[in-house]
Order: sequence, then C-alpha cells, then structure tokens
Amino acid sequence: MYLDLDLHYGDGVAQAFLSPTHYPSSIPPGKKPPRPPQVLTLSIHHHSPIFFPPHTAHSGLPSPDSPHPFTLSLPLAAYPSSSTYARLWGSCVEPIKKAFDPDYIVLQLGTDGLTGDPIGRYGAWSVDGEGGVVWCVEKVKGWGRPTCVLGGGGYDHANTARAWALATSVLVSDQATRLADVQVGRPLHPDTAVPDFAGLPEFAPSFTLEVPHSTSDYASSVPILKPLGNVPDENTDASLSHTEAAFKTLAVRIRSILAAYSRQVTSIKYNIKTPALPVPRTTSKPPVLDLRRPGPSEPARIVERGRRIHRSATGQSHWDMSPPTAG
Ligand SMILES: [Zn+2]
Repeated sequence: MYLDLDLHYGDGVAQAFLSPTHYPSSIPPGKKPPRPPQVLTLSIHHHSPIFFPPHTAHSGLPSPDSPHPFTLSLPLAAYPSSSTYARLWGSCVEPIKKAFDPDYIVLQLGTDGLTGDPIGRYGAWSVDGEGGVVWCVEKVKGWGRPTCVLGGGGYDHANTARAWALATSVLVSDQATRLADVQVGRPLHPDTAVPDFAGLPEFAPSFTLEVPHSTSDYASSVPILKPLGNVPDENTDASLSHTEAAFKTLAVRIRSILAAYSRQVTSIKYNIKTPALPVPRTTSKPPVLDLRRPGPSEPARIVERGRRIHRSATGQSHWDMSPPTAG
C-alpha cells in the first residue's frame, strides 16, 4: 500500500500502479472474480484547477463505483488542517488499509502541506497535535507492517528538516526505550535545540525543532512567500462527509473483491487433480552390493537391474541367465 501525504497529487505513482483491470461495482454470484492488483495507491492532497498537477482522470474523488478502486485519490479544498487529517484518517485511511490488509507500506511524507510552505501555499497542516505529521507517522507505525518512509515535497527547508527529524525520531524509537525512560531511542521533543551548523540561521528565531504554525510565529526573511497561516480550513463538513461516503463504499468493494478472489484461489487449491505418475515397466533400483564375506556355501552376490552375478567361493563369476527377479 502506497500512502501519499504530500500536498500535491501523487500522479506518477498512481499511474505507474494503475491496474489495467476494470473492477465491476459488484461481483455476480458464480462469476469469476477479477484478480486484485498487488499495489493500492492512496494520495491525500489539495486539488484545485490552479494547483499542480493538472487534473487527471484519477486525481479527483473516485466515484463509489469506480472501475479502479485500488487507485484512490482523496482531494482536499484549500488549507486542510490537522483536524481534517485526523477526521479523514479515521473515516477513510483506516477503513481502506483494513480492507486491503497490505503486507508492506510505503509512506510518502511530503511536508509541503505545512502552514507557510512557499510552494505548497494551500496547506495548514501542523507537525504536532492530533492529525499532525508526527501523529500520522505514529498511526502508520502502529499498523505494525514493514514500512518504508520516504520524503517528498517540502520547500521551507527549516520546517521540513524539523518535521522529518521529529518523524524519524518516532520511527526509530521503540516502546521498550520509552518505558525505560532513557534518552537514546526516544522521540525528540519539539523544544530540542538545533545543533550548530551552517544552516542554523534558517531556524531563527527559536533555533529549535518546533515548527511555527501561524504567520505571527514566523520571523520570515521572505514574507511574500510565507503569507499563510491562521487561515480557515475550507474543507467543510458537507464536503468531508461526501468524501467519507465514497470511501466507505470503496472500502467495502475492496474487501469484497479480495474475499471473492481469495475464495476462488482456495477452491482451485483444494480441487486440483494430481496427474497419475507413469508406472515404470521394471523396477529401477541402484545397484546393491552385499558386502558380507562369502562363506564356502554362500557366494557373494551383486544384484544389478534384476540380474545376478554369482561369484563362487573360488573367485570365479558367471552370469545367471535366469529371468530377472525383483531384487
Ligand atoms: Zn508536493
């Protein structure tokens, strides 16, 4: 399962893993179910006519009867806040993940949806708090599946570095070290000071890992590019409910496609007829050498392919030309 949290639509990956199969809205009883794809892609992003990338066939909200229920797009209006991410996580992301039940996760953790990103511009995501970057990473980690976390967009260098440092500390921490109350292997706190290095001035004025979340928090050197913050989330309850209804149906369809295909595979597995192996005309066994020391009345025997070679006690051998017998 590929989960894309970048503010831009993950068009390339969605296209790369788009299944050529068109899945029916329901599978009639007795009809052979289509094989589900190996990869499900889900991109949560801002979508509008003026925002990159341009509209594609799959960048909008999929219809509940979409022929491509494994290529999912969750478009958002401007300034999606952490509370919007938290709501959609519970109502859309979790049901899809549960239905697809992936073996592996690839998380694309773009941070250009953070408030004030100079390229994202239409984001109002936070790093901390419910629904924030760290919260989402904790949720994915909690799934307990092998996970590859990738960077993504993020054009405020300081905030992107902060967010990824905090997210990385969550990913590499474990419950044991948390309980042991040791510093190594624990998630970083936003108050953590940024170490001195050449890029430190970009972390002014706090010089910590805390990501400012409103315009007034910024001591921006490029105020024109960072005008956004404290802007209202334009994702209304009605629009989110509409999205949730579509994803609810899509999750049911995904589960039913996987279940139908699984039943078919199980049926094939247990009804398979094993072809009878051809019976050899003669028993073919490797030569057996009887190493017992020959006694005066007991010649050594070499049994080979049903024929016997008799060797007398005096060392003379002769072929036994009698018909082969089972050796
Ligand atoms: Zn982006």
